[in-house]
Amino acid sequence: MIHIRFIFILLFSLQSLNAYNLYDNRIEDKIWKSGETLLGFMQENMLPLKLYYEMDVEDEKLSSDIQANTICHILRDENYDIKQALIPLNEELQLHILRDTNQSFRMSVEPILYQSEKKTLVLNLENVLSKDIVAKTGNFQLSVEIEQMFRKSFDFTRLKLDDKIVVFYTQKMRMGKFYGSQNVTAALIKNKSKKHYLFLAKDGNYYDEKAKTTDTTSFMQPCKYRRISSRFTKKRWHPILKRYRAHHGIDYAGPTGTPIRAAYGGKVIFMGTKGGYGKTIVIRHKGGYKTLYAHLSRFKNSVRRKNVKKGTVIGYMGNTGKSTGPHLHFGLSHNNKWINPAHKITFKGGLQGSKKQEFLKVVKEYKGKIEQLLKET
Ligand SMILES: [Zn+2]
Repeated sequence: MIHIRFIFILLFSLQSLNAYNLYDNRIEDKIWKSGETLLGFMQENMLPLKLYYEMDVEDEKLSSDIQANTICHILRDENYDIKQALIPLNEELQLHILRDTNQSFRMSVEPILYQSEKKTLVLNLENVLSKDIVAKTGNFQLSVEIEQMFRKSFDFTRLKLDDKIVVFYTQKMRMGKFYGSQNVTAALIKNKSKKHYLFLAKDGNYYDEKAKTTDTTSFMQPCKYRRISSRFTKKRWHPILKRYRAHHGIDYAGPTGTPIRAAYGGKVIFMGTKGGYGKTIVIRHKGGYKTLYAHLSRFKNSVRRKNVKKGTVIGYMGNTGKSTGPHLHFGLSHNNKWINPAHKITFKGGLQGSKKQEFLKVVKEYKGKIEQLLKET
């Protein structure tokens, strides 16, 4: 009896010792919590706070943009202290915190490296669409994206056995796993004899073969302005500063005190100070959209935690936070990803003019390829 107990204890201690050794150089996935800040993360992990306070102005603002549920990779040493941390800012750029051999830390914005490959998926429906897509590609994210794309234009309950699906997409892989959005460029659902198409336009939205969309969420410009001082970009190399930059919004420069209006109806879910963004408001809208209004001089306090209509004044333009002159930083996110607000402001239910003509050419090309694929199956 004693022997058995002894062996158990021995086994247990061996196991924990093993786990302890393994912990050295182990990469941990950390999920960024809702409301979590970079400063809070640094305090929690006892990182030197001067890293944060000496941050470049633009980088500090980007750090306020880290979305909830972002997966960060953290490498710790045997004392559970951070050796390295990679915190994604969007699908292209990440904050890299690194402790060097002198035990001093550095932090920089770096590109996220991933592999991408153009793929075509053709399938005859055998089971449930999402299951069939995963069975054929192993790519769960792709099935999610296709369902989201067609959510408003196609009733999935109408799918029948042997319906055909054709998808053109760019598969992104990182560290041996599917990574980020799978960038569907064209998709067809052939339901009995009826064809439902969606194509990606240069503005980042999906339209049908006539350049129309069923997404009715059209945002208004949130304020009057003198000029646009900065536009949206996910990744830009700054040749003079020699660093990567991103800007998750549009900057509208104008006089302090210019009224700022809700770009769409929704609920004010945040009204307070947000890192380099200074006085900031966040509104949640239907359909997975959120808008962010930053650097405000003051809030309209009566709308705090209230539902507001499109056009309601929510605050006033200012220069709070890290800002070099009065302007509004206007951000728009969809399903927790920053998107270019410009496209949703000029929205008219479909593409117009030269953009439409250009799009229809792409549609024609894809339809030709799709017809060919359907003939072959
Ligand atoms: Zn900005």
